Amino acid sequence: MIDALTITEYSSIMSIHRVSNPPNPFISESREWLEAIPETRVEIYEEHARSILSENDSPDIPFRWSVNPYRGCQHGCAYCYARPTHEYLGFGAGTDFETRIIAKVNAAELLERALSKRGWLGDSVTFSGVTDCYQPAEATYGLTRGCLEVCLRHKNPVGIVTRGRLVQRDAEMLGELNRVASAKVFMSIPFARDEDARAIEPFAPPPSRRFETMRALRDAGVEVGVMVAPIIPGLNDMQIADVVRMAAESGAESAACIPLRLPKSVAPVFFERLAAAMPNRTQRVASLVSAMRGGRMAESRFGHRMRGEGPHWASAMSLFEMACSRHGLRTHSDRGKDTSGRKSVRETAAQLTPLRVPSKKPADSSQMLFDFGKD
Ligand code: SF4
Repeated sequence: MIDALTITEYSSIMSIHRVSNPPNPFISESREWLEAIPETRVEIYEEHARSILSENDSPDIPFRWSVNPYRGCQHGCAYCYARPTHEYLGFGAGTDFETRIIAKVNAAELLERALSKRGWLGDSVTFSGVTDCYQPAEATYGLTRGCLEVCLRHKNPVGIVTRGRLVQRDAEMLGELNRVASAKVFMSIPFARDEDARAIEPFAPPPSRRFETMRALRDAGVEVGVMVAPIIPGLNDMQIADVVRMAAESGAESAACIPLRLPKSVAPVFFERLAAAMPNRTQRVASLVSAMRGGRMAESRFGHRMRGEGPHWASAMSLFEMACSRHGLRTHSDRGKDTSGRKSVRETAAQLTPLRVPSKKPADSSQMLFDFGKD
């Protein structure tokens, strides 16, 4: 919960669209606009959190410890399955999720405390387990950077998943961290073409910039990979091979892919935006998602959430595997093969981060690698 709250506001490109949220299941009242629906406006809430390290024990999530310096995400991807987490805070899962951002301003201090504990074993810490740690607010707050400075001081391995170009700002530090411990950055890139991404991920940097960022990180000595996620059948599945090829050309060494799932209030947000951007595709995408998810829009059972089913998913996966094999990228099925060049037992435990088998429960070897949010 939020301990202390102050609000600052700043203008943003996000004021271009209007407030729209699906009903919050935790709030009994609803709001109807009698006049014109107001434009969205970014508000940052500063939180003094009680803790910063989250421990995951889901077998679907390949890391144990994660840090999320922000709640909500200004990138505003239509499909983001972290959206319902905002409803627990009394906000909406639609435009509220991408405009009402909570910054845990004491993140670095909390992480320093956690990593200094005698019982801390130096496990890898994953950034962006829920929302993007390099969203625009990071340019002002520098919370992720502060946490990375802590990790560097402690020589603690990190894994990062992001769509944010801002990670390039920290390339030098991440390169140094990779030299003394391990630093791996997965750029999340579901579309090969900028114009397609813009319709669905309106405020995230375009894919072309993300590939450039990947190259810059690699040049700085950081290990990089690509998350081709989510796979949206009927929308981006034919771009899988292009994304993998472009990632390989930009220095990626490994790749993962995850099918779309639309839990709870994510589905109405996604389809509202898809219908606005590509009205002709909506019906087909809906029926393919349903086929890929066993007649539902989402799958919450452990072991099933991160993989699809049916012929469409099977062909997307074989396209992905073939492209990775052709361009020499490791995939989840290669986990455990690359054990070269690590520095100590401590690092060895985190060696495959973010392709790491969770320490508490055995992973299904056929599962996908990343959860980028929680149901
Ligand atoms: S999918 Fe990732 S980048 Fe996009 S809105 Fe969600 S947390 Fe942000």
